[in-house]
Amino acid sequence: MAAQSHSVTAVSLRGVGKTFANGVSALSDFSFTVRDGEFVSLLGPSGCGKSTALRIIAGLMPPSLGQADVLEGRRRAGEIGFVFQEPTLMPWATVADNVRLPFRLRGDAGGDTERKVAQALERVGLAGFAGAYPRELSGGMKMRVSIARALVTEPSLLLMDEPFAALDEITRFRLNNDLLALWRMLRCTVIFVTHSVFESVYLSQRIVVMTPRPGRAFRELVIDAPYPRDEAFRTSADYAGYCRRVSETLAEAMADNTGEAA
Ligand code: ADP
Ligand code: MG
Repeated sequence: MAAQSHSVTAVSLRGVGKTFANGVSALSDFSFTVRDGEFVSLLGPSGCGKSTALRIIAGLMPPSLGQADVLEGRRRAGEIGFVFQEPTLMPWATVADNVRLPFRLRGDAGGDTERKVAQALERVGLAGFAGAYPRELSGGMKMRVSIARALVTEPSLLLMDEPFAALDEITRFRLNNDLLALWRMLRCTVIFVTHSVFESVYLSQRIVVMTPRPGRAFRELVIDAPYPRDEAFRTSADYAGYCRRVSETLAEAMADNTGEAA
């Protein structure tokens, strides 16, 4: 794989707990670290606190307990890209205007903005769609716009919250491949949330399997397969073996009730 240095810690959660005002405990004693340049998935059942963990990492909400650290300076505007499950595009704005949003929010209309918008669109394969409106795009294309918007500031940390869950399988596979190519080109750190065993194995260098709510790290699995990964990997015995192991671990995690509030 690319010469990415994985020695620096990019994100570190230590004993993170999160209890909401209504008493719901979403996370309890959740710890894991991500090294700079790594591609890590958080895999767990719906409601186990994955989105909560991402929001805490992004600095959008504080943990109730414990520490959530992001590499020095990485919480500055533009250093974190966030992609949600829904593309959340402004329907009245063109594709280019949607991608330009992070700059507008920063009040930054610098001379480089237009070049960066065009480059982000090109990187997600939408070079010809700058003037199109969201309603003219397919679900996969809307998600590409959403990814371009997250990448336009060239973030060093990309947080993705089940971005492809609503897409059909063919589109999802294609976006998986394109995401891996972007990660290898941009050398950013990716934390990818999913409840799909297959997707987590295909994409990740490492998978953090979470318990049901309150979520914590049940076990980590290394997917020691080389990149680039492609359809040959997807149909390989190695891939099937990893998927089986991860599925078994997830089943074990599901049966783990030790963290459950009494
Ligand atoms: P996941 O992304 O793994 O599906 P979430 O992090 O969205 O899980 O939610 C974990 C739990 O916390 C769920 O039970 C959810 O209902 C609850 N929760 C999430 N956000 C809030 C909130 N703002 N207030 C109260 N409960 C919340
Ligand atoms: Mg979620």
